[in-house]
Parts: sequence; C-alpha cells; structure tokens
Amino acid sequence: MDHAFRVKLLGVRGTLPVSGDAFTRFGGGTSCVLVEAGETCILLDAGTGLLTPEAAACYGKKRLTLLISHAHADHLLGFLMFPPLFQKDCRCDVYMKTRAGLDARQQIERLMTPPLWPIDTTGLKAQMQFHDVAETFFIDGVRVDTMESRHPGGSTIYKLSYGEASLVYATDYEPENDAPDAFCAFAGGCSLLLLDGQYTEEEYEACRGFGHSTIGRSAAIARSCGAACTRLVHHDPKRTDAQLLAMEAHLQAENARIRFGRGGEEVVL
Ligand SMILES: [Zn+2]
Ligand SMILES: [Zn+2]
Repeated sequence: MDHAFRVKLLGVRGTLPVSGDAFTRFGGGTSCVLVEAGETCILLDAGTGLLTPEAAACYGKKRLTLLISHAHADHLLGFLMFPPLFQKDCRCDVYMKTRAGLDARQQIERLMTPPLWPIDTTGLKAQMQFHDVAETFFIDGVRVDTMESRHPGGSTIYKLSYGEASLVYATDYEPENDAPDAFCAFAGGCSLLLLDGQYTEEEYEACRGFGHSTIGRSAAIARSCGAACTRLVHHDPKRTDAQLLAMEAHLQAENARIRFGRGGEEVVL
C-alpha cells in the first residue's frame, strides 16, 4: 500500500472568487482541495480553485471522486468547466447529501442547466455516478466519515482517514462556541484541520447566522480539538493579503500550528 497522503489547497477564498494584486499570496479561487491518497484521487468541493493550473494533476485520470459539502455556488462553479468531466474514459463519482428533496445531480442542475448554463449534466462525457452521503463510507482505502455542519440549508463536514493520518474539512461552519462537543469528538486529534475562518470578531456581529466562523473562534477550536496542524480557510472576499499576513502573525504568536491556508499550498500528512 502506498501511504503517501498529500493535500493540496486549490482554492481557499470564501463566498465569491476575487482577483488582483491584493490577492496573489492567498489566492482568489473558491473552495477546492485536492487529496491524493496513494493512487486514489479525491477532490473536496468544486469551487473555482478547481480551475487553477494545480488541478491539472487530475487530468487524464481514469477515476476521480468529488466530495461536495453543499451546493452553494462558491463550492460548485469549478464543476462547470472541469476538463476531466468531458473525458470519456474517466469515471467520476460525485457525493453530495440530498437536501430540500433534491439529490446530488438535481442540486448541481440548479446551477448547470439552461438558461444559466448552456448544458446540463447529460452533456458531460465522463461516466458520471451521483451518490447521497452516508455517515461513513470508503473510497478505495480511504475511510470517509461525515457530520452535519451548522450552515443555512446545511453542509457536510468530511473526515478522510488513510493509514495513520486524517484530514478534516470543515468549511461553511458556524460553531456555537469555542469547543463544540460534537465537532471536537469528530475532529479530535486529526493530522490536518481545514476550518472555516471567514470573519473577524467585529464583522461577526453583523454576520451572525450566515453560517461561518470567526478567526478567533476557529483558532480556539483548533486548540480544543487537538489538531496537529490547522489551516483556516474560506477567507472573506474582501480580505487582502496584507490583512491576512498581519492577522496570521498574531495567530502564530499564540500557536505556531495554526495558519491561514494559501491557494496552491501542499501539506503532506
Ligand atoms: Zn462557501
Ligand atoms: Zn455555503
């Protein structure tokens, strides 16, 4: 068994993609993470980070799995133009929890259907398989555990375990306090925690209930659950590189294991 477990952050921006000189260090692409566990290739979410050059590692693969947290547009826009989905010899398994009576394919077709988009999922050339999300399932040798997030309309938090290492992907999550019991039990002791950190404490006052965490609260949760290493993600679209770097210096002064995720960054577990 090949035990290489590589995690590449393709997009760490929240809500909407951004571009320009102020966003080059952390990147402007929305939620997308590439996970390579041995020969198994898994993508967490399909935001515009899926359209960055680093995603080319997936091109030509015969099998891909997409684990989608929820159907908000910032988590699906990259799906519309992802080259392997137009590749006949690729089998692509897409997992997304049934919500509001719509299964995975139907939720994607809310975005990918005329007149919003010229084709629907029947125009994809890959062998597409759409799945609901169970509490626990396996993709080859990777164990996938899931829990429900606190987010308007719902969202799925994923834990991927392979060999001795584990990755928790918890974006679009509004924790109720600094040490939420269910989440800390779920994520406890993980190797890498990717955790929503969209707002500052000041911003949160006007954004309570929007389904996102704050930088301070998420740093506290990362400590509470004993994650070996944490990257805060889903950066607010207005957050510039300069602001993120200044806030990261404060975070790191308290705990060197917590940083802000950067688009293109790779972590080997
Ligand atoms: Zn989002
Ligand atoms: Zn969302």
